[in-house]
Amino acid sequence: MTEPVLIIGAGIAGLALARALHREGIPYAIYERRTEAADAGLAVNLPGNAISALHRAGLGDAIEGVGFPVARREYRTRRGRLLFGVDENAFWGPRAAPRCVRRADLHTMLRAGLPDGTVHLGLGVTAVRQDGTGVEVDLSDGSTARGVLVVGADGVRSTVRRAAFGDEGVRAAVLSAASYRFMAPNPGVDRWAVWIGDRGTYLLIPVSPAEVYGFACATGGGPASPDVGWLADTFAGFPEPVRQTLKSVLADPSQLYHSPIEEVRIPRWTHSRAVLIGDAAHATAPVWAQGAALALEDAEVLAALLAAGADVPAAAARFDQVRRPRVTHVQTQTDRFSRTASVPGWVRALTAPLTGPAGYRAAYGPLREWPQL
Ligand SMILES: Cc1cc2nc3c(=O)[nH]c(=O)nc-3n(C[C@H](O)[C@H](O)[C@H](O)COP(=O)(O)OP(=O)(O)OC[C@H]3O[C@@H](n4cnc5c(N)ncnc54)[C@H](O)[C@@H]3O)c2cc1C
Repeated sequence: MTEPVLIIGAGIAGLALARALHREGIPYAIYERRTEAADAGLAVNLPGNAISALHRAGLGDAIEGVGFPVARREYRTRRGRLLFGVDENAFWGPRAAPRCVRRADLHTMLRAGLPDGTVHLGLGVTAVRQDGTGVEVDLSDGSTARGVLVVGADGVRSTVRRAAFGDEGVRAAVLSAASYRFMAPNPGVDRWAVWIGDRGTYLLIPVSPAEVYGFACATGGGPASPDVGWLADTFAGFPEPVRQTLKSVLADPSQLYHSPIEEVRIPRWTHSRAVLIGDAAHATAPVWAQGAALALEDAEVLAALLAAGADVPAAAARFDQVRRPRVTHVQTQTDRFSRTASVPGWVRALTAPLTGPAGYRAAYGPLREWPQL
């Protein structure tokens, strides 16, 4: 290949693809409309398949140097009673032990070593065109760029998707239409822990002994209002350590990040020389924390198919075939959990101790295997 692969968006998916193409010796250029990394202050939980993908990307040692190992997860009622727990280290094995990391650390890690001049910040893509031999994109400074393939790694509101695939398929998540995310001083949380009430769900994951990542949303499709009074009301009466972290963020609501949870469900991710990866292709509610994991896997798989030497449209078409079953599995498991989350608390208290561990295994079991090309 002499002309570059044009990657639109320097989030987790775009940076991971750039790394993988660089490793394979395939020319690329990334265009990112922001002048710095998005959401850099928050954290991301990386289940075992995300860690496996980072090993494939040559970042196995680097990931062990950041964040906090998440050896165990626990699901509790709003009163604090344990419904069930999972030994995550035993489930995933030592090489794929889950971790919670700051997004900024993950971005820095993915970007390290990319040659100067390949990542163009502050340049958004405004239009995409294809012809028989290549693709051309219009950039926000009025210039154009030409390449062999355009990869939409530009997130849930993707411009590439709108230009090349139409703008259908975005919907509010079944679990909750919106959520709050925040970082808070760690009151001693050393595991992934969630408290589920009839109106709200509150998750805490340690990022370090000093800092915890929090996520709060409605349970079973509610709105999770942007008025912070919703947080105070919904989680009043929840036990420690929820109480302490809530008090800390309510004292300074500027630390709270409120955003809609949107999903993308579309029948095609490739259209000749245009491909969608990451959230642009399949944004999914963070029920199983698969957004970053699927984005990292997408990048490795697409780079491997392009490196295998097939012509570009054929490699792109193959990408859709290879990735579809795994993504469909995650979407199905996300819907299943989102529906069961909306049952009344007393039903959950009776059934979760039995169905919960089986549900965890059903969701994550198939993701322990690397997707075959
Ligand atoms: C509340 C919440 C919690 C989550 N928690 C987790 C979690 O714990 N674990 C997990 O794995 N996942 C989680 N996710 C999902 C995860 O954040 C995403 O799946 C992941 O960030 C997707 O990465 P991406 O690179 O595909 O998209 P993005 O991170 O959205 O990056 C897209 C990039 O494209 C850029 N861009 C957009 N349009 C253009 C344009 N026209 N031109 C140039 N650049 C453009 C944007 O500025 C951005 O930098 C969560 C999501 C939400 C909403």
